[in-house]
Amino acid sequence: MSMMVIMHEAATDEQVAHVCARVEEIGAGAHLSAGGRVKVIGVIGDREAITQLPLEAMPGVDRVVAILRPYKLVSREFQQRDTVIDVRGARIGGGHFALIAGPCSIETPEQVLAAAKAVKAAGGHMMRGGAFKPRTSPYAFQGLGEDGLAMMAAAGAETGLPIVTEVVDPRDLDVVCRYADVLQVGARNTQNFLLLAELGKAGKPVLLKRGPATTIEELLMAAEYIVKEGNRDVILCERGIRTFETATRNTLDVSAVPVIKIASHLPVVVDPSHSAGRLDLVLPLSLAGVAAGADGVLVETHPNPEHALCDGPQSLPTAVFGEYAERVLDLARWTGKTV
Ligand code: PEP
Ligand code: MN
Repeated sequence: MSMMVIMHEAATDEQVAHVCARVEEIGAGAHLSAGGRVKVIGVIGDREAITQLPLEAMPGVDRVVAILRPYKLVSREFQQRDTVIDVRGARIGGGHFALIAGPCSIETPEQVLAAAKAVKAAGGHMMRGGAFKPRTSPYAFQGLGEDGLAMMAAAGAETGLPIVTEVVDPRDLDVVCRYADVLQVGARNTQNFLLLAELGKAGKPVLLKRGPATTIEELLMAAEYIVKEGNRDVILCERGIRTFETATRNTLDVSAVPVIKIASHLPVVVDPSHSAGRLDLVLPLSLAGVAAGADGVLVETHPNPEHALCDGPQSLPTAVFGEYAERVLDLARWTGKTV
């Protein structure tokens, strides 16, 4: 059960605090929407207890509206303004575009540094790379773990790029947090609710991938698990879904971008690498995502894709990354984004 308490424009901070205090007194959660002229308090908790509260009668309250969607805090109803996330100076959302690129997995210090330098030189905003790799086969390369994180952090420090990397297991969260700037949730963990709740308390932005068999509504509910714990900095990622088509590994659901942007205030990125699994489709799918309104692109690039331990066939060689980035960033600018 949840309600939105919409305060009068002239409501004082004391009046807002009073409403929040009364809500918390009955054991419900009070979530204040960020920014905006009018303050909105999202009230989430037990239906009986909430309906007993005389919210409308409290000083400063304009009106009280029920939120009927299964997700609340991530909805546009709760917050009209786009969420803007600042990752050590790299901004995403609300008109700010971020190009996030790097290898599928961290292999050697030289490999990750070469990738980071190419990303930086091309005007990229953050670097990606996996140290914990949830592979479909248990016999495939599973990542370098903490050694990989350290290699990535060194490349990040040298280039000034913030680091996006996946957390697979809540038990690894502390170690990943020591190195990462953004915590990625992979497509196989979109509905790992225990992991999501932990990430909600981790104090770092989260990049949440849509699972290949997850509906948009389920993705938004997964994001709600994170935001509900107090972490509002969630980036959603469309990375392809399972369809009957066999020409591509997954089908990039381009329409998910505008659908999510209508339903939610959170930033959305597309992943053109994992969606198709094909190098020749990386540029067209990136452009399609940007044209559809994506706030960023998450893409794989490797100095030597032929020798990559993971996802080589879909990785852009760093030698052509500059050309690729120019096309993507040009289109992002053309759609009115700041890059
Ligand atoms: C990745 O980003 O390297 C990855 C494993 O992607 P996904 O979870 O989308 O398959
Ligand atoms: Mn990959």
